[in-house]
Amino acid sequence: MHRRLIVPGASVAALMLAIPASAAAGGPGASPGKHSEPGAPGIGDPYYPASGNGGYDVAHYDLRLKYQPKSDLLEGTATILATTKQDLSRFNLDFGLDVSEVRVNGKKARVTFSGDQEVEITPAAPLPKGSEITVVVKYAGKPSDLEINGWTAWHRTPDGGVAAQEPDSAVWWFPSNDHPLDKATYDVSVQVPNGTQAISNGVLRSTRPVGLDWTRYSWRSDKPQASYLATLAVGKFDITTDKTAGGLPVLNAYSKDLGEHEGAAKASIERTGEVAEWLEEVFGPYPFNALGGYVPNVTSGYALETQTRPFYSPKQFASGSNVSVVVHELAHQWYGDSVSVDGWKDIWVNEGFARYSQWLWSEKEGEGTAQELADYVYASHPADDPFWTVKPGDPGPENQFDIAVYDRGALAVQALRNEVGGKAFFEILKGWPTEHAYGNAKVSDFVKYAEKVSGKPLAALFDTWLYEPGKPSAPAAAGAGVSRAAEAEQPKSWKKIARTNTVHEH
Ligand SMILES: [Zn+2]
Repeated sequence: MHRRLIVPGASVAALMLAIPASAAAGGPGASPGKHSEPGAPGIGDPYYPASGNGGYDVAHYDLRLKYQPKSDLLEGTATILATTKQDLSRFNLDFGLDVSEVRVNGKKARVTFSGDQEVEITPAAPLPKGSEITVVVKYAGKPSDLEINGWTAWHRTPDGGVAAQEPDSAVWWFPSNDHPLDKATYDVSVQVPNGTQAISNGVLRSTRPVGLDWTRYSWRSDKPQASYLATLAVGKFDITTDKTAGGLPVLNAYSKDLGEHEGAAKASIERTGEVAEWLEEVFGPYPFNALGGYVPNVTSGYALETQTRPFYSPKQFASGSNVSVVVHELAHQWYGDSVSVDGWKDIWVNEGFARYSQWLWSEKEGEGTAQELADYVYASHPADDPFWTVKPGDPGPENQFDIAVYDRGALAVQALRNEVGGKAFFEILKGWPTEHAYGNAKVSDFVKYAEKVSGKPLAALFDTWLYEPGKPSAPAAAGAGVSRAAEAEQPKSWKKIARTNTVHEH
């Protein structure tokens, strides 16, 4: 569903070398705080060393923005509430636009820049460990001018712009601790020209006129949210609103520019409430304060599980309506958004289950059972297919969104179902999002949880399906209840499910 940001080996090495040097520069001699040291420039994810930062934890982002669709100029003030986790002489935010001023606890801070996305902030005085701090960042810039390693996460559209990417999009529109390990709540308020709308996460709290020519849209996402799941879309939209039977507000937004895709997009996304109701039966209570989806007039092909309000490219509906992609992105609200990866290597905990939810939907709709889909996946990739060399349990940054993470990943889930039986399996599926609600988890945490619920040792099974760099043998497949037939019939739902594979297209 996603486009990854490639971090070349050279910049990784440069960054790692920079750590001891900067630590020395900001050491005891540089500040009166004896034990104060700079926070690390990365949060410690080996896949993306520059992602996130060390030394503090954000609780809340308040983003007050103004965007001009004609010029792509984004101006903003970000107010960030955080708690220090060490005595800090300096700390970083991840951000790529021009910063004019930073204040920490009301006082001007010194600002320098390093790498592609590191804003280094030195407060007037060192910050003691465990203190609550307020950081105000004033900034402006054209997100479409920002390229990192020759690539941009920002979609420029004829009537505005869109931020929705994985694993990075925040650096194009707000300063953050840009890693799922540091989740926070969000208030996003955006001033746009009249006739244009600003879409973001959660509940639309108000739309207010600003002078004669502008309108301000204010959104609130009140549960912990990873920075890559924060989204902003400015453009001309048709907006539909409703409430679910349970009383949750539903808001969907469709670019006025969808042309022939409009009907199919609406026929899919207007079923969001129905799909969420079904997913609640499988995964338990919906974890957030709002539901919806939006389709901007972008040229990309993917979809993304932006929290409470997934992003869909118009191309997802090029061949007609597709509820399967809605199922996938809504399943992520439990598997990915509420329970997030601990590190990006744990991507299977998101994608294996979002893909498997599409298989369960197919089963419910009578378009092929999950077992038939598993048999088909197993049969359609011969042993020498590179598909089997990707390890869904730790695919590496280059294969993080490889199709094997999805399809082999879902095969692993089917193998679990066959091993522990339906009763324990569905108990695991429903229990996991509650066990780690609003937190982070590793693949190994899931294995342990499945063992606890089922009472069965499962390490060998997950090793075979998630970590072995080859096609599981026929006996292993038979043991996991997967068909040994060389060919399996293509389930009816296959093409719709595969349409969500545009992860690889740009
Ligand atoms: Zn996904």
